[in-house]
Amino acid sequence: MGMGRVFVVELEGKVYTCLTCGTHLASADDLISKAFHCRHGKAFLFSNVSNVSIGDPEERMMLSGMHTVADIFCVSCGQNVGWKYESAHEKSQKYKEGKFILERGKIDDRADGAETQFYIDTTRPVDPSESMYVDED
Ligand SMILES: [Zn+2]
Repeated sequence: MGMGRVFVVELEGKVYTCLTCGTHLASADDLISKAFHCRHGKAFLFSNVSNVSIGDPEERMMLSGMHTVADIFCVSCGQNVGWKYESAHEKSQKYKEGKFILERGKIDDRADGAETQFYIDTTRPVDPSESMYVDED
């Protein structure tokens, strides 16, 4: 019950970790798409992440439309590792609601050894405009 003690969950299997401190952030099982981009390069969409704190939601205009997003931070080191989609205003983008972006440059993706295990789930819509994704905050 100590003040300031951070409870960190250990994920199993192939995991994506915080590049700064090695804290487990997401399981490869929860990866939805690698076809996203952020200001700093590639970004991955996950259905769930662990060991993050969520900032205040704000409106951001992206190339795929207006979204309400909240930045997410590693609970161990405080690094901003991506964002959560709280809501999407465009119907075609609703599939992202409640899901999380981790920026490729902020995570260690050595879990990617077997690339073929991580193909995009083709049952989900993948917006071609995501390839030009711009996070304008
Ligand atoms: Zn960290």
